[in-house]
Amino acid sequence: MEQIYVEKTASRGIAAAKVYKYQDPDLRPALTAITEEQEAGEIERFRSARAKMIGKMQEMADDSGILAAHIEVAKDGMLERGVEKRVREEKKNAELAVWETIREIGNIFAGMDDPYMKEREADVLDIGKRLMAELKGVSLPDLGALEGEVIVAAADLYPSDTVKLNPKVIKGIITERGGLTSHVSILAKSMDIPALVGVTDILSRLEDGVTVCMDAGKGVIVIDPDEEVLAGFQAQREAYLLERQRLEQLRCRPAVTREGKRIALCANVGSVEDIEQALEMNVDGIGLFRTEYLYMGSSHFPTEEEQFAVYAKAARLCPKELTIRTLDIGGDKKLDYFSFDREENPFLGWRAIRISLDMKEMFKEQLRAILRASALGHVRVMFPLIISLEELREARRMVELCQRELEQEGVAFDRNMPVGMMMETPASVLLAEEFAREADFFSIGTNDLTQYLLAVDRGNKRIADRFDYFHPAVLRAIRHIIHAGHQAGITVGMCGEMAGDPRAVPLLLELGLDEFSMSAGSIDYAREQILNYKGREWKEGDGTGEKK
Ligand code: PEP
Ligand code: MG
Repeated sequence: MEQIYVEKTASRGIAAAKVYKYQDPDLRPALTAITEEQEAGEIERFRSARAKMIGKMQEMADDSGILAAHIEVAKDGMLERGVEKRVREEKKNAELAVWETIREIGNIFAGMDDPYMKEREADVLDIGKRLMAELKGVSLPDLGALEGEVIVAAADLYPSDTVKLNPKVIKGIITERGGLTSHVSILAKSMDIPALVGVTDILSRLEDGVTVCMDAGKGVIVIDPDEEVLAGFQAQREAYLLERQRLEQLRCRPAVTREGKRIALCANVGSVEDIEQALEMNVDGIGLFRTEYLYMGSSHFPTEEEQFAVYAKAARLCPKELTIRTLDIGGDKKLDYFSFDREENPFLGWRAIRISLDMKEMFKEQLRAILRASALGHVRVMFPLIISLEELREARRMVELCQRELEQEGVAFDRNMPVGMMMETPASVLLAEEFAREADFFSIGTNDLTQYLLAVDRGNKRIADRFDYFHPAVLRAIRHIIHAGHQAGITVGMCGEMAGDPRAVPLLLELGLDEFSMSAGSIDYAREQILNYKGREWKEGDGTGEKK
C-alpha cells in the first residue's frame, strides 16, 4: 500500500477501482530520406491519412461537437503547406514531415498570449497523434471501448481521447501532465469524474490492473489499499455522492431565507471559463471577476482591445450581474513583464488601486474596456484596496473621463454602470458612512480585511491559526460596514473567503449581508444554509462581543 498526496484537484470526488494505464504506441517517425520520385507518393500518403483521420473525427464529433476545432486545423492549409514543403524541399518522408509540421504549428499556438489560443496547442498535438497513427498503420487505445469500472492513469489526455469517456466506466482520472484549465480538467469537471492532474511519475508507480483509491477533493491517492482502507474509501464515496445528490436538488431553488429574504448568491471567477462553470451552479451573478489573472497570463499589459474581448464575452455570457474588479496586483501577485521595486512590506506597499492611479494610461485601457463591455450586459466595476475618499473620487473621475472619451468617439456604454468598492482596509471600515454616500455598492474583502485588522499576514503558514475572520474585531467591522451601507441605501456584498464558509453564512445573514460571492465549489453548500436560515440565530453576547 502506498499513499500519495497531490495538489492539483481538477475535479472533486472519490473513487476506488482498478487502474487502466492509458499509453500510446510509439508514434515517433523513423528518420527516412526520400528520393524525388517518391515525393508525390509521400504527399498522397499524407493526404489519404488525413482524409481517413478527418472521417473518424467527424464520426466522433457528431455526438460531441468538441472536435470541430480539430477538423478545422486538420483541413487548414498551414498543415498541408508545411508537410509538402518538407517532403519536396527537404526530402523527408510523410511521417517525419507531419511530425515536424505539427510541432511547428503547436509551438505557434503555445506562444500565443490568449489563454484560449494557447490551449489550442493540445488540439494540434492531438491531430498529430492521430495522423501519425494513420500513417504508421497502428491503432490507438480507445477509452470509449473500456468496460467495467476503471481509474484511467495517463501521461496526458487529449480532447479526442476524452470525447468518448463514459462516466459509468471511467470512475477517476489521474494524469502526469495538464493544468487545472487543461481540456482534461474541464471535461472531467463537466462529466463529474474525479480527476487529479499534474501527478508527476504516477505511471511508473502503477501496475496495470492494480486497485487505486482516490479522493480528488483532498488530493489523496492510495495505491493497492488494504481491505480496511478500501472499505473506508467506499463508505466515504457513498456518503459523498448522497450529499452531492441532496445538494444538487436544491440548485434550482433561488436563494431565499425562510423569512423570505432574497439573497444574491454569486460566484468569484478569474476567467470566462470560470463563469461558464459558475453559471451551471445557478448563481445570481458574478460578485468578483479578478481581472489580475488576465494580466498575469499575458506577456504584456493587455491592451484595451484584448481586455474588451474578454469582458465582452463575459458580459454576454452572464445573464445577470457581472462585477469586474480593476487590476489588483502587487502584494503577492506579480507580473513577468513588469518589475516591481523590492519592498519591505509588499502587502502594505504599491498594490491594487495605488498602481492603477499611478499608471493612468494603463488604468484607462482597463476602464474603457470595462465600459465598452457594459453596453453588452449587467456590468458593475469595483475598485480594490481603497483607503480614502480622494482615491475613490479619483478613480470615479477616471471612469467619467473614459465615459466622455467614448461618448465623443460614438462608442456605446452603459451610462448607469454601478461603481463600487471593496471594503478590505481598516480605513474603509472607519469611513464606511462617508464611502457609502459616494459608492454605488460595497463588497467586503475578508481576506485582506482580516489580514489588516488583525495584523496577520494572510499567506504566512506559521500564524495561520491567528488568521480568523470570526475574530470579534472582524465581525464588528463587518457589522459596521453593512449598517453604514444600508443606512445609505446601497447593497453590501462579501467576496472574501468568509462568504463561502458554511459556518459563517447564518451569522452573515443575521448581520444583514445582501450578497454572498464565492468560488463555484462552495455555492451548493451556501445555498443550503441560506434556504435553511430561519432568522435570529445569535443574540446578545454573540461573537462581536457587543450587545445588539
Ligand atoms: C479579499 O481580500 O477578501 C478579496 C476578495 O480580494 P483578494 O483575495 O483578491 O485580495
Ligand atoms: Mg483583497
